[in-house]
Amino acid sequence: MELLVYETSETFTEDLVDFKVTPKNKKIAVIRAGFFGLISLAALEEAGGFNPVCFEKTDKPGGTWCYREKPEDGVGSTMPSTIINHSKELGALSTFPPKKESNNFMRHHEIYEYIMDYATSKGVLKYIRYKMEVLKVK
Ligand SMILES: Cc1cc2nc3c(=O)[nH]c(=O)nc-3n(C[C@H](O)[C@H](O)[C@H](O)COP(=O)(O)OP(=O)(O)OC[C@H]3O[C@@H](n4cnc5c(N)ncnc54)[C@H](O)[C@@H]3O)c2cc1C
Repeated sequence: MELLVYETSETFTEDLVDFKVTPKNKKIAVIRAGFFGLISLAALEEAGGFNPVCFEKTDKPGGTWCYREKPEDGVGSTMPSTIINHSKELGALSTFPPKKESNNFMRHHEIYEYIMDYATSKGVLKYIRYKMEVLKVK
């Protein structure tokens, strides 16, 4: 598999097949460091034996829940007033309960904190390569 990624002004390809596919060093590309990209990285970390690399086109993780004062083209973002539409009990990861002091319907910054606490506790932020937009997978 070959990934075409865009880094600032340069375009280059990263070859992912040149790695020997064994359970101990399988290289896995995770595209996008939103909430689900971070969960995917955590699942790979937990399973062990993988060598993940996550490509994120902005300079921050968290996707939609990373509040941006200036909207970025093609990136969803919350507004200052955004509150999630489900309770924290209903929407939380079963293995990572939200803080007791968080609002039941969390504010966008509480969700972001929750996501970041999760990613930090799993030690997966180190796998993210920022300002790398995936343009094509073949
Ligand atoms: C304003 C708003 C309010 C919302 N409210 C709720 C809610 O109340 N409840 C609910 O359940 N859901 C809500 N959502 C849905 C929200 O999308 C999900 O909760 C969740 O954030 C989706 O996570 P994700 O990881 O799939 O994608 P995202 O959070 O969208 O993250 C995608 C990431 O991928 C990056 N990216 C995109 N394209 C590329 C590329 N080609 N190469 C590299 N990186 C790339 C982006 O920069 C971004 O960081 C809301 C969405 C918005 C926009």
